[in-house]
Amino acid sequence: MASMTDEAAVRRQDALRSAVETGLVNEAEPVVGLLDVAGVRQAATSLHAAFATPGVAVEHTFAVKAASLVPVLALLGQYGLGAEVASPGELALARAAGIPPERTVLDSPAKTTAELREALSLGIAVNADNPQEIARIDALLAAAPSASPIGLRVNPQVGGGSIDAMSTATATSKFGVALRDPGAEEWVLRTYAERPWLNRLHTHTGSQGVPLPLMAAGVRAAYDLAERINAAAGRRQVTVLDIGGGLPVNFASDDITPSFGDYADLLRAEVPGLFDGRYGIVTEFGRALLAKHGTVLARVEYAKSAGGRAIAVTHAGAQVATRTVFAPEAWPLRVLALDAVGRPKTGAPVVQDVAGPCCFAGDLVAQGRALPLLDAGDHVALLDTGAYYFSTHFAYNSLPRPAVWAYTAAPGATPAFALVRAAQSPADLLAESGAGLPPLTP
Ligand SMILES: *Cc1c(COP(=O)(O)O)cnc(C)c1O
Repeated sequence: MASMTDEAAVRRQDALRSAVETGLVNEAEPVVGLLDVAGVRQAATSLHAAFATPGVAVEHTFAVKAASLVPVLALLGQYGLGAEVASPGELALARAAGIPPERTVLDSPAKTTAELREALSLGIAVNADNPQEIARIDALLAAAPSASPIGLRVNPQVGGGSIDAMSTATATSKFGVALRDPGAEEWVLRTYAERPWLNRLHTHTGSQGVPLPLMAAGVRAAYDLAERINAAAGRRQVTVLDIGGGLPVNFASDDITPSFGDYADLLRAEVPGLFDGRYGIVTEFGRALLAKHGTVLARVEYAKSAGGRAIAVTHAGAQVATRTVFAPEAWPLRVLALDAVGRPKTGAPVVQDVAGPCCFAGDLVAQGRALPLLDAGDHVALLDTGAYYFSTHFAYNSLPRPAVWAYTAAPGATPAFALVRAAQSPADLLAESGAGLPPLTP
């Protein structure tokens, strides 16, 4: 029997060919995003299965920044996921997707008083980032009671992973209360003891590049702290541990490794008390739920050569693959070479650059990559781009946000496509750029 990842690769190849054949990618829309609904469902199922424990209430939320697309949030909602939001915009998207307040968590290092007031009035869970935010919540609760679960984000300062910008548990990270700083733990214990409504504790050790043992060490530190908070308060005050997201994704092959099961097993070994029924668990995964189920498909506009290097100029560059272009060592992507009808190209590998459409020299999604030689009219597929790539757009050169399509297919049948987001139109671009506003006075 073919493995699940083989089947996903077959679905992806069928979708790529069908997207080219049916003209989803065309001259007017030379780049699109594609999302595999069956893959997303399998990811959600394996997440639920990994953490399911008799007697333990587990709530999985999806980190909205990883795919800020309402139909995707609604689909995940149907698979039993809530939403982790970090801005008024993300909260609005989660609400538009029908995610109920009791399955929504607000995290952000810069919540305004108005955002806090709205979240508390809706009953959304809030994780405070720092002492000043706790003081704001004190004042808001004094003015109006709230049903919101409220936690504090702590930085266990267990160290960083391989990507500095993704490591949130370093000594000097901007997030949460730095637990190992002088006086910090005393402040935390006192803060909880004085505020019976503080009933959660939150940590998120980082995203891509943080190894599993470091993630588990961060959760362990939060768990140990919860035990000390409850002992100091003399009651079971912290009832829910929010362990964040951050499961790293393998961008080197189709294998899903590590899996949610690998991480949950490690947590069961390293933090057994987390699963003994005294705490509820909240998770906030983003990348690991969607990355492997999305693909960026783009046309090759021209093929050229410079200084002996073959260069394919495509329509997928920094506007969709922003991190890959600006930090290629940290965010390498696999690139598939496809022909004019969307089939994998054959032919001897040729070292070439795969460039994007942006007007700066570094706009390359792959440099010196050995691929069948790309030519004008061919296509490229950027793999594992289902998380962040559809929602971390860069507006350089006024390039529009591409359309995103979800695909579903019975084995052997032609894939069916459903629009998840329309491409930004010329009118949208004009509006975004101040067209129609009164002229400035010279
Ligand atoms: C970004 C973020 C997540 C999700 O991280 P992934 O690496 O996408 O799983 C979860 N929680 C918080 C607080 C975040 O900032």
